[in-house]
Amino acid sequence: MKKKSLLFLFLSLYLNSQTNIQENYFSNPLDIELILNGNFGEPRPSHFHSGLDFKTKFKEGLNVYSSAEGYVSRISIKHGGFGKALYISHPNGYTTVYAHLKNFNEEIESYIKKLQYKKQSYQIEHYLKENILKVKKNKIIGKSGNTGSSFGPHLHFEIRKTLNQKALNPKLFNFEIKDSRRPNISSVFVYKIDSLNNFKTPAKLKLEKINDSLYISDTLKAKGKIGFGITGFDRQDLALNKNGIYSYTAFYNNKKNIEFKFDEFFFQESSKIKTLIDYNYYIKNKVRIIKLFKDKGNDLSIYSQNHSGYIDIKDIKSEYMIQVSDILGNKTKIKIPILKESFELKFPIDKNIISSNKKINNNLNYDFNFENSRIQIPKNTFLNDINLNIQPYKDSIKIENPYVPLFKNIKINFLNKRNTKGDYLAYKNFDGVESFASSKLDDKNFFIVKTKSLGTYYIKSDSISPLIKAYNFKNGDWMSKKEFLKFKILDKESGIKSYEVKINGKWILFEYEYKKDELFYKFDSYFTNKKENKIEITVEDMVGNKTKKSYTFFKN
Ligand SMILES: [Zn+2]
Repeated sequence: MKKKSLLFLFLSLYLNSQTNIQENYFSNPLDIELILNGNFGEPRPSHFHSGLDFKTKFKEGLNVYSSAEGYVSRISIKHGGFGKALYISHPNGYTTVYAHLKNFNEEIESYIKKLQYKKQSYQIEHYLKENILKVKKNKIIGKSGNTGSSFGPHLHFEIRKTLNQKALNPKLFNFEIKDSRRPNISSVFVYKIDSLNNFKTPAKLKLEKINDSLYISDTLKAKGKIGFGITGFDRQDLALNKNGIYSYTAFYNNKKNIEFKFDEFFFQESSKIKTLIDYNYYIKNKVRIIKLFKDKGNDLSIYSQNHSGYIDIKDIKSEYMIQVSDILGNKTKIKIPILKESFELKFPIDKNIISSNKKINNNLNYDFNFENSRIQIPKNTFLNDINLNIQPYKDSIKIENPYVPLFKNIKINFLNKRNTKGDYLAYKNFDGVESFASSKLDDKNFFIVKTKSLGTYYIKSDSISPLIKAYNFKNGDWMSKKEFLKFKILDKESGIKSYEVKINGKWILFEYEYKKDELFYKFDSYFTNKKENKIEITVEDMVGNKTKKSYTFFKN
């Protein structure tokens, strides 16, 4: 007994010294019960979710508190991404991040406004030294909001190691989030794996629920090398949201076969989400299967040991067991009895295979030159050798295979043949969605784009200037009783590149909410009232078309 507790003490000391996690150091950043909208590490289209999303009662404006004492080390304001975000560094070596805020507290707000006025820019990225904006634990730092790429009010909260910005699972610090539910299993898949570790569309196993914590599949008749994949979600007690699962472990004949969990990861690893899921299946079915085997090119640090997850069936009878768990240890298990025999399962035939004319060896650099275009593909852009469909047409260049992810940029040069004002490089993806390609024009009149997006590239023209509409006033209005000015701004072709608003000749900080196409200014001390005031607004699109408007308003 004594021996065991000593060992336990030793183990926990060892673990704590490794990660230096002090439970209860950080407090709840909201003054309501914590309910999750999103879990740490859960898969998003192009990354792992790097924090926890807390619900804010479906509204903006809830108080957000500093989770511990420290100082504001970074303020970031962007149209997209985290929107208005605050980074607070703490003496214990961690940084907390609060994102999609509506605003900051008075002290921080006035500090950042000075900078915005100095730079004449709403968007700002600012790092601060230790002694400038200090904060106490549980001090209000701002209000929760919905700014940036947030599609519903919530607080995105992160804990990072200050030194290397590695994102940690905030749940390791013991926030109280009620969770007595086990993770849910939606389906389990089996993959045939060839000698080069290639795999095709998997077959779904039939599962029977034995009890709340155990599922058993039909006996799998299989031979040779196989692997498994799983779809599921984790639900906490106080909401119906389907959040990501914390840990995955699999055993083959009771021997650990693979194990990974979401405790921490580097942001550089984030795009490797495309090696954890079955990317091909995701593109075709919009369902993310988490693979329980390690693909070529999967160098994610989330794995506990050097297991591959592949299985080679040698025994007549064997068993595969998957265990998924949340961080509090609520578990669900799936047992898969295996009989060594020829496959009985029907594997779906890969649909929608694209026609291709180029075989890409992933260990080589490529440089395709055509009359009006050029494509350069560096080695290791993909995970393995792949097929591409590359077609130079008269007015476009097609480079296509929607089922493979890119991990490096390819470079496309495309001749700006017509060379008229408003021309820009556009591209259409495999689904036919058209976008503006952010390119540069070189001195030989070629558009140059570095991109991870495959599709068809061609020249389009945007000759229509952006639209500007005063939203809450008309020219010549009395605004004495109004607290703010709002415009609608819109550009349907290439999109909005920049905007500028001056009142009585002075640059004024308008906030751009791209989700609503709105420019917003609340009257503050930066506005000097002159009774008769003149607003001049200029909006420019990506190709340089400008719209200018001016208005007069009166204010006491
Ligand atoms: Zn989030």
